[in-house]
Amino acid sequence: MAKVSAYYSTNPSDPDVYHDQDNCPSGQQIPSYNRASGTNGYPKCKHCADM
Ligand SMILES: [Zn+2]
Repeated sequence: MAKVSAYYSTNPSDPDVYHDQDNCPSGQQIPSYNRASGTNGYPKCKHCADM
């Protein structure tokens, strides 16, 4: 696993969380066109927090 810059999904149907692991199973499902840098003020995704 690798820590990366915070990113989140801009898709309104996705959970309001951000990710900071490149192999997060939730984060990997975000297509590049929905992926934005930063946290957007969201809490950290549970998968990323557990890693
Ligand atoms: Zn995550």
